[in-house]
Amino acid sequence: MSAERVRAATRVCYACGAATTAPAVRCDCGEPLWLPEVTDPTETDAPGMWRHAGLLPVDSPGGVADAVGDTPLVASDAVADFAGVDVSLKLEGHAPTGSFKDRGSALAVAAVEAGYAGDVRAVGTVSHGNMAMSTAAFAASADLPCVVLVPDDIPESRLGVIAQYDPTVVRVDGDYGRLYERSLELGREHDIAFLNSDVPLRVEGQKTTAVEVCLDAAPDAIVMPVSSGGHASGAWKAVRELHAAGRIDQIPDLHFVQASACAPIDEAFARGDDTVASVDGGETIAYSIANADPPSGDRVLTAARDTGGTVTSVDDDATRAALDTLARAGISVEASCAVALAGTRELVQSGRLDSDAEVAAIMTGTGLKEASGSADTARATVDSLDTVLGGVGVER
Ligand SMILES: *Cc1c(COP(=O)(O)O)cnc(C)c1O
Ligand SMILES: [Zn+2]
Repeated sequence: MSAERVRAATRVCYACGAATTAPAVRCDCGEPLWLPEVTDPTETDAPGMWRHAGLLPVDSPGGVADAVGDTPLVASDAVADFAGVDVSLKLEGHAPTGSFKDRGSALAVAAVEAGYAGDVRAVGTVSHGNMAMSTAAFAASADLPCVVLVPDDIPESRLGVIAQYDPTVVRVDGDYGRLYERSLELGREHDIAFLNSDVPLRVEGQKTTAVEVCLDAAPDAIVMPVSSGGHASGAWKAVRELHAAGRIDQIPDLHFVQASACAPIDEAFARGDDTVASVDGGETIAYSIANADPPSGDRVLTAARDTGGTVTSVDDDATRAALDTLARAGISVEASCAVALAGTRELVQSGRLDSDAEVAAIMTGTGLKEASGSADTARATVDSLDTVLGGVGVER
């Protein structure tokens, strides 16, 4: 076995340090596992995220995977004015299925094909949104069967987007929250690799968002929305690895933002607790991040404290104001991402983020899949169009 292969086949626990060579997802202590830390600075001319070959356990298998990563980092004066700080936006909506989940799906599916998840005949996931679309797309590209477990009441429109990649979709009636653990058990019995939100191989791919941000911009702080904690875990692993390798001088503060209607990690952080208790989540427009019982919640608390960051939450009005600001800058994101901009503003106003800092906010997914604008239209006939057009822009 080559050194690379050993590395990808081992999983370690960030909390208790235990290591295993089984393709396990969680440690006996209950915490999520991840791959051992790597510090190899090798970069290749591979496309997208695959350029950081020294940090990744596998190379791109080609196909749509080559379109993942290397997303733009942009700045806008209007957005900076709103936030009260110099903030750049990492536009993960540019990924093939429109969210950062593609980084995790692309890497995890490639690693499954390379045998790192054991002998499996299919991949699967538990999701009603972006992760389902993303996993199904990369499974299709690898010609691997894919099972997607969705809640029974999933909106038809979202089902249609998932279905275009032709996975086996199962609507599951009953306690959808229990499915995370249950799917992992069933996956072992049926030789299906469930690539759920925070499994080690997914985290390994999702760390590349923060790798790119740090190497492109070396910000003082990174602000991102958090739900299960899989993306946040990747960001934490990325900054640790880059710092250990001497590729960044300073570890940026990692700030995590939730929607206040469903904010178990924020509540635990505010109490000073080390563990996250599940909550009875309420409704929010940021439905992609409404996880009432986040599987990597404790790891997120550790990441925030370890880096000098925080966890906070914002209500839907604050999120709508951020969405409007972004839209007026020409940027369409999901409500779940606007939460990160609203959170940045809140952290500056409350003094937890220095207004002199250079901040990167992660816009985790495109808004083009969800219609959030209300169309205010003018009407005309071909003959009256002249008058209407004469008024365009006059009141600006
Ligand atoms: C999944 C998702 C998140 C949350 O990521 P976690 O890894 O579950 O914390 C945030 N934004 C968007 C758009 C997502 O799809
Ligand atoms: Zn452990």
